[in-house]
Order: sequence, then C-alpha cells, then structure tokens
Amino acid sequence: MDDRFRYRKDREAYSAARVRALEALLIQKGIITDKTVDTVLEVFETKMGPFNGAKIVARAWVDSAFKQRLLDNTPKAIAELKLPKGMAGAEGEHMRAVANAPGVHNLIICTLCSCYPWPVLGLPPYWYKDPTFRSRAAREPRAVLKEFGLDIAESVEVNVWDSSAQIRWFVVPERPAGTEELSEAELETLVTPEAMMGVAIAKAV
Ligand code: FE
Repeated sequence: MDDRFRYRKDREAYSAARVRALEALLIQKGIITDKTVDTVLEVFETKMGPFNGAKIVARAWVDSAFKQRLLDNTPKAIAELKLPKGMAGAEGEHMRAVANAPGVHNLIICTLCSCYPWPVLGLPPYWYKDPTFRSRAAREPRAVLKEFGLDIAESVEVNVWDSSAQIRWFVVPERPAGTEELSEAELETLVTPEAMMGVAIAKAV
C-alpha cells in the first residue's frame, strides 16, 4: 500500500493534538473565539445528526405516501417534518434518498472525497474518507460489505451511489420483519447511521 494511505499508529492522539494547535492558533489570530468549536460541536450533537435520518426513515416506514415523496423529492419531503432548522444548508442542499427493497441493496460512498448528507447523518466516520474504502467500495462492493458483516445474496442487486457536491445520498433501509407493533418512536431507535449508509441493515432488537 502507498505510504500516503497508511494511518499513523497514534492517529487519534496526533489528530487531537493537531486540532488543539489549530484551534489555539485560530483563536490567537482572532478568526474564531474560544466558543466557536463548542458551538459547532453542539450543532452536530443536537441539530445535525443521524437522529434526524432515523426520524425520516421511521416516518417512511409507517407512511408509504411519505416514502414515495421522499424518494421523488427528498428535501421537499424532509421539510414536511419538524426537524431542526438548517436542514437545507451545510451539505444538505442536494440530498437524495434511495430505498432498499427485496432484491435491491444500496450503498453510499464518495469516491472523490467525503461528501455526505450532514443534516440527516451528521459527520462521516473516518473510514468513509479512507481512500482504500472509497475505491474498493466502488470496485467490489459485495466484498467490502462482507467485511462489514453484510453478506448480500448474489440474487440481490447492489447499487453504489457516489455522493458529490451535486447530490448527497442516503439509504432508506428496509423495515425489519416483526416490527409491526412498534410505534414510530420505537422504530426510530432501530435506524442506525450504518443502515442509512448501506453498510448494515436495520434490525429488530
Ligand atoms: Fe466528497
């Protein structure tokens, strides 16, 4: 493997130190204040995150007309729900949902960099940006999914959606069997970020 793509052994500590140094420098230069980073973190903890995606998916599971509108015009359908403000901006301008179905599995990636639907999924995990993941997921999605523990039958079509500045995809996983009695709020808890990326499926607990 090319050395540029290797991770340092102390990657997390190294990144944390680099972030601290950058933050200190930006504060010193007056570009941000000591509150700025906390404010951004709070946005991703309370306003933009997979908790929004879970609400959208649970609604799609209980309301097939909403699901159809979500697939036809994702931002417009999302705007019907009472979600935090700012859902349309910051990497959320061009979101598109794709639905898994019997015989069809969807996977989202960004081959170019790390485009991701922030408002509904939050910030992407580090592996989503990994050059090896990005290239392999496009080239051999079934093998990659298997490494995530998802064995997709040969009879099931796998669609890989490449996010970009133009379109940011997310997956509506299939509603797990045996969840007919669950409320919409209970269904939300079954929707993981991984299921909305297509590297997992939603499971009944
Ligand atoms: Fe990207």
